[in-house]
Amino acid sequence: MSARQLLARRRRLAGGLSDPERTLRGVLLAEGRRCSSEGCRCRRGELHGPYSYLAVYTDGRSRTVYVPQALAPVCEAHVELTHHNDELLLEISQINLELLRRRALE
Ligand SMILES: [Zn+2]
Repeated sequence: MSARQLLARRRRLAGGLSDPERTLRGVLLAEGRRCSSEGCRCRRGELHGPYSYLAVYTDGRSRTVYVPQALAPVCEAHVELTHHNDELLLEISQINLELLRRRALE
């Protein structure tokens, strides 16, 4: 690909980015939980749920954040949009790296 073609591809990729204010990095999980009641069926392996959690990785550690059922669809949309934008940004970065190698970065 010529530098001119790379620049055109970069512009197309950048045009595909959307809604940065809805960025939410993480992975949605569905997990069963045990409660605090001693005689409950969950003590025999019949867990409550599944409930939705968002696994997030910040400051070098991962943790999970509970996602209320009513917010699961909007949370999922944010996570998918973020994943889509991240893939575009990764490819834009690769194009810029190639342009740098060719002394054609602008
Ligand atoms: Zn229980």
